[in-house]
Amino acid sequence: MLAFNVAQLLKEGTGASRQRELSGELRDIDENNPHPVPVQGYVHLVVTPEGVLAMGEATLSLVQTCRRCLEPTEAALTIAIEEEFYPTIDVVTGRQMPPEHDDEPELLIDERHILDLTEVLRQYAIAQTLEPTYCRPDCKGLCPVCGANRNIEACTCETEQLDPRLAILAQLLGASEDQE
Ligand SMILES: [Zn+2]
Ligand SMILES: [Zn+2]
Repeated sequence: MLAFNVAQLLKEGTGASRQRELSGELRDIDENNPHPVPVQGYVHLVVTPEGVLAMGEATLSLVQTCRRCLEPTEAALTIAIEEEFYPTIDVVTGRQMPPEHDDEPELLIDERHILDLTEVLRQYAIAQTLEPTYCRPDCKGLCPVCGANRNIEACTCETEQLDPRLAILAQLLGASEDQE
């Protein structure tokens, strides 16, 4: 489950807490992950004066593109969650709460007192896909001349040339040395 009924927890008041297991699937993360992605973990729910703080960790395996060689690579990731959720209905009086947090609908506890972590987890997962990823720490990347994947084949291109910007810098340094 990625969604929990927090009615009883909210009735217990500020400071009340529960630990819950996270288990479910995330959809629509990105084009590298077209199928539902299983997610596992735990969450600690604590009642605050304003709502419910959800803190926990979730593990999932995402396919990402290696930044150096551009090959798809699958890696297990652990994401740390910390978000405060806000009730839309006062659990004691049944009254509608003021709509202060409507700009973040994924953080609203619905009128049936369900706190749903699915969208928050999905957004954290999407944020992870934007981080640079490497298929392995020593990925050799693509040859800038012929495009060969250097993890698979050793091409014979001459790529030891100095970066042109560095070459200019080297010239400038050389020139200033001459002046002294
Ligand atoms: Zn790579
Ligand atoms: Zn090459």
